Amino acid sequence: MKAGARLPALFVGHGSPMNTLADNRWTQAWRRLGQSLPRPQAILALSAHWYVRGVAVTSMDAPRTIHDFHGFPRELFEVEYPVPGSPLLAARVRDLLRPLEVEADRSWGVDHGTWSVLAHIFPEADIPVVQLSIDRTRPAQFHYDLGRRLAPLRDEGVLILGSGNVVHNLGMLAWDRPDAACDWALRFEQSVKDHLARRDHAPLVAWESLDPQAQLAVPTPEHYLPLLYVIATQQEDDAVSFPVGGIDMGSLSMLSVTVGSGV
Ligand code: ZN
Repeated sequence: MKAGARLPALFVGHGSPMNTLADNRWTQAWRRLGQSLPRPQAILALSAHWYVRGVAVTSMDAPRTIHDFHGFPRELFEVEYPVPGSPLLAARVRDLLRPLEVEADRSWGVDHGTWSVLAHIFPEADIPVVQLSIDRTRPAQFHYDLGRRLAPLRDEGVLILGSGNVVHNLGMLAWDRPDAACDWALRFEQSVKDHLARRDHAPLVAWESLDPQAQLAVPTPEHYLPLLYVIATQQEDDAVSFPVGGIDMGSLSMLSVTVGSGV
């Protein structure tokens, strides 16, 4: 990868897969991001939906579009995001993370955590995408540390993209009330923003103690952890901004976070 101006790193709250097909305030914000972000040479995506045992990086030339959900309309299963992969970036990621063993994966692809947002940010699907799995057996600090080790990629034309939701409780969803917001969801989202604004990352890594009702906001960590990779790349002179936020259907935070300038 060629050196260049440092790219921002981006976390996007993806919410429902139906956002792929929607025109709402979140998808409009994602489209604006695509227009204002410097164009990356490649994207390294951390998706809540590749939460497995072990660390793996997609290493194929042409990753498939994975429709990893059930019970949605056929239209959503027909969405394709036919980006190229980047074996070169995959190899660079494995180098950066050495001596950690990172499997060169040839079976995953681009899952809906990644394509549901990239379909809006970069609708042309012409920027190579590599995904790094999130190891479900590791503690939050491990994921933050990996983010720090991946930070040099931002100087090499790579957009580090985390896709999850800082508040994600499907059991408490109010499907019929899109504008509803549980108090604890609002409070947790605000707390994440406050700590990020103060560059106070340690409490975000120890998210279980961030709020008395943290277990409601983050009942399982897979949608929260992509945030840690993104914020861990923050350098001294990087500002943090929040392109969009808010709670969808009571218990999903749609907060997006940008680390670094350029947007
Ligand atoms: Zn999700």
